[in-house]
Amino acid sequence: MTRISHHLTDALLMAYSAGTLPEAFSLTVATHVSMCDECRARLGAFDSIGGALLEEAAEPMAGDSLAATMARIRAAGGTPRARPPAPRRTGVLPAPLCDYVGGDLEAVRWRPVGMGVKQAILPTAKGATARLLYIPAGAAVPDHGHRGTELTLVLKGAFLDDDRRFGPGDIEVAGAELDHMPVADIGDDCICLAATDAPLRFRALIPRLAQPFLRI
Ligand code: ZN
Ligand code: ZN
Repeated sequence: MTRISHHLTDALLMAYSAGTLPEAFSLTVATHVSMCDECRARLGAFDSIGGALLEEAAEPMAGDSLAATMARIRAAGGTPRARPPAPRRTGVLPAPLCDYVGGDLEAVRWRPVGMGVKQAILPTAKGATARLLYIPAGAAVPDHGHRGTELTLVLKGAFLDDDRRFGPGDIEVAGAELDHMPVADIGDDCICLAATDAPLRFRALIPRLAQPFLRI
């Protein structure tokens, strides 16, 4: 596999460790972690810190410490996260995704969204949406901004965003401050897993009115 150069933020790994992410984000984090040794190691460190804090919270003097708060968050039912399984790359889809799709790529039920772009929304809890995107080589996602957070994880092929290139295993974390226009690399069709917690804001009228993805 090619080297991964775009990783998860500490904030996302911590929230995943604490089990407080919406399911769609949790799935995307778990999928990246299953492909990335570096983030798996960082997650292990956060898990140990969280575990130590929880043990401390069990002490009678813990009171209203951070640990107690974290314990309450867990008890209040932040989404219980899926344990990242050992990496398994027999097909295109990593193991956490195969569980949602019910198989590898051949089991995905794609729906066309225009100009050769296809998507498949995955069954996750409300609050955030996870979808697989199929973007033909050279096609672009129109210029857009974000109201919330968007995670885009490359599973196959690559996309370019400004001067940055995202290949297999790379994850782009886009927040409200970023406007961008990702373009699938010319060489190969691109398959991504994308998670969003709010609708995107498209700059141009036509994509707003018509379909979210157009070839440019
Ligand atoms: Zn990583
Ligand atoms: Zn975006």
